Amino acid sequence: MSCKNIVILGSTGSIGINTLKVVERYPDKFKVVGLTAYNNFKLLEKQAKIFQPTHIGVSDKGIEYLKKNINTRKTKILSVKEDLESIVTLKNVDVVVIAMRGAGALGPFLAAVRSGKIVAPANKEALVMAGDIIMEEARAYGATIIPIDSEQSAIFQCLNGQKRSELKKVFLTASGGALLNVPKSRFNRLTVKQILSHPRWKMGKKITVDSATMMNKGFEVIEAQKLFNLKTNEIDVLIHPEAIIHSMVEYIDGSIIAQLGITDMRLPIQYALTYPNRLDSGLKSMNFVELKQLTFQKPDFKKFPSLELAFYALKKGGSLPCVLNAADEVAVEAFLEGDLQFNSIYEAVTKVVTQHKIVNSPGIKQIFDADIWAREETRKVMSQL
Ligand code: MG
Repeated sequence: MSCKNIVILGSTGSIGINTLKVVERYPDKFKVVGLTAYNNFKLLEKQAKIFQPTHIGVSDKGIEYLKKNINTRKTKILSVKEDLESIVTLKNVDVVVIAMRGAGALGPFLAAVRSGKIVAPANKEALVMAGDIIMEEARAYGATIIPIDSEQSAIFQCLNGQKRSELKKVFLTASGGALLNVPKSRFNRLTVKQILSHPRWKMGKKITVDSATMMNKGFEVIEAQKLFNLKTNEIDVLIHPEAIIHSMVEYIDGSIIAQLGITDMRLPIQYALTYPNRLDSGLKSMNFVELKQLTFQKPDFKKFPSLELAFYALKKGGSLPCVLNAADEVAVEAFLEGDLQFNSIYEAVTKVVTQHKIVNSPGIKQIFDADIWAREETRKVMSQL
């Protein structure tokens, strides 16, 4: 495997930090050329000193700070708001890891795809908003998309070497989030802190709340449909609390190929960086005897209506998944600020989704318009709850 030049958008979040751990293990195989972060510029400074990228992107506040603390002859300091696209399209970049969260990833994602890069997204928002456009552009420009999200990485691996025409069904597994065994009657009394304690994965706040509502799984359903060109009825969500099987694909003969592994994000991250090869990860092997059993349940759509709402948005299509994403982002933010009750996240999002006039086969401008509309509408809806 020749050395790959890597850009990490969102290097100070949990995916970014884990990506750098993978890179650190193989300094002769990966070279970091770009790092970006928003406000965690002290950690970005540390990372920049260790990995010596030629370009970093940060918020305006961070630019001032880093200009004083970093050798600017070696590292160009750019704006995270304006320059992400120029960083990901640098000529020598091979792999773009999209570890930042939010709708802001869509622009740089498309730019990376249009310059034919290998794109490794952990970000869900861009694919939920504009998955059809991204996949079409990836085909047109010869870009390779290798997902980092554990479920999507699992599906990607289960599809390797198989014929798409022989696929019967994808089982997207879900740990069930923090509320799997909590009665719904208690949901509104839970504190933000309780919601944020995910039993299996340590992740950012927004995605942990989305795991609790199961909207995260809903986004993954949409994402999987786009990434692997599936029909909606080819995707089944399966609750699997141990989170050992990261997803499975069933073929027409009844054979099921599953991808299993310990719950450590370094595995799917490393796979995306080394594909089509594999390297020793240094992580411990799974101990099946200790594990004893793997269990499964049907998802409870009544308890977690957000999951059903995501299926609805996917079926209706057009600009609706984008609206779902934007409304959820605004509502979850309000919940995290203490301005919205937990159950009202769904209430607000579902109102906005039903009020939206769907634009079919939207172009990128219409996607951004729908995104702006949904954010404003969600704020209005929330003020009336
Ligand atoms: Mg996931």
